[in-house]
Amino acid sequence: MSATRHYLDWNATAPLRPEARAALVDAFDVAGNPSSVHAEGRAARRLVEAARERVAALAGARPAEVVFTSGGTEANAAALLGVETVLVSAVEHDSVLASARGAARVPVDGRGVVDLRALERILASERPALVSIMLANNETGVLQPVAEAAELAREHGARVHCDAVQAAGKITVDFTALGVDLMTLSAHKLGGPKGVGALTVREGVELVPLIRGGGQELRRRAGTENVAGIAGFGAAAEAALSALETAGAPMAALRARIEDAVTELAPDAVVYGAGASRLPNTACIGMPGVPAETQVMALDLAGVAVSAGAACSSGKVTRSHVLDAMGVADGAAGCAIRVSLGWGSAVADADAFVAAWRDLYERKARERAA
Ligand code: PLP
Repeated sequence: MSATRHYLDWNATAPLRPEARAALVDAFDVAGNPSSVHAEGRAARRLVEAARERVAALAGARPAEVVFTSGGTEANAAALLGVETVLVSAVEHDSVLASARGAARVPVDGRGVVDLRALERILASERPALVSIMLANNETGVLQPVAEAAELAREHGARVHCDAVQAAGKITVDFTALGVDLMTLSAHKLGGPKGVGALTVREGVELVPLIRGGGQELRRRAGTENVAGIAGFGAAAEAALSALETAGAPMAALRARIEDAVTELAPDAVVYGAGASRLPNTACIGMPGVPAETQVMALDLAGVAVSAGAACSSGKVTRSHVLDAMGVADGAAGCAIRVSLGWGSAVADADAFVAAWRDLYERKARERAA
């Protein structure tokens, strides 16, 4: 096992930003409940409201539109559960798919981009109450035409939800300009703490609370607020927003360094979604004939942390419905890993990945030849 680690799994979770850590630590010393009217309570309330402003600024929303939740999964559930007819894209995160069971799925093309013509057709035939389309895919980084989809949905009288968990903090996210009614964010993907997120709810859109029994979050989400987590989220959102303009290009250059090296080394390697607009930090790379689990383990031993292309929420790798939807053959889809970078990624990390990937590729080629 290599002693030096190279963390290239930022889409799974990002390391805590120092600003978020400081905000968390400070908030732990604020004793009050934000619902209390005394000075201690008001101090806690101030932390929550300051964070709301920062998260709203990152999301292009108004502070009153931000409802804090326990994370992206809860925000997706709050947006979708209980809605009668939902239409989702075929590449949504599991937390969307599980909250919209039985929903019709809008197909994607071979690059992983939602097919807007198919969306229009399905809107006309299914007449859904709500359409859910993510802004950026967690496995491939492929960006979706959310604003165009939202316009089509509106023409057909449907509301629109957008899971922006992977996009927020990596590219500009503008809730208002996207024209969606509901949007999901998660703190830990952008350098905040795990276990806190938000659903932005457009003014005038009624949200039936998923969690009831208290008047918090303007009656949209009951329960005493996770004050420290929310303060950490706010600090991370502010830091992410101020770094947004400068962070993308270096990440895209590092990603290109990886993809160029891998495809030069191995003409049979595949970069999924490469033909589409993508997040600057994500590469989904297939090494034909070598199962993703084997790659993840070999890279881990070499000090490089990546994940299997498929979401693996319980540590076990399941078949990727995203690559499936892109028409990738079964065998090939099982050989894809996700490499995801962040603001702390350096050339040394990219080069360590390439070296370890090459070692494995060459070792497997020798084994096949023997
Ligand atoms: N949506 C997407 C696209 C994600 O990638 C994730 C996390 O992997 C989630 C939702 C869930 O967010 P959380 O981990 O905050 O529950």
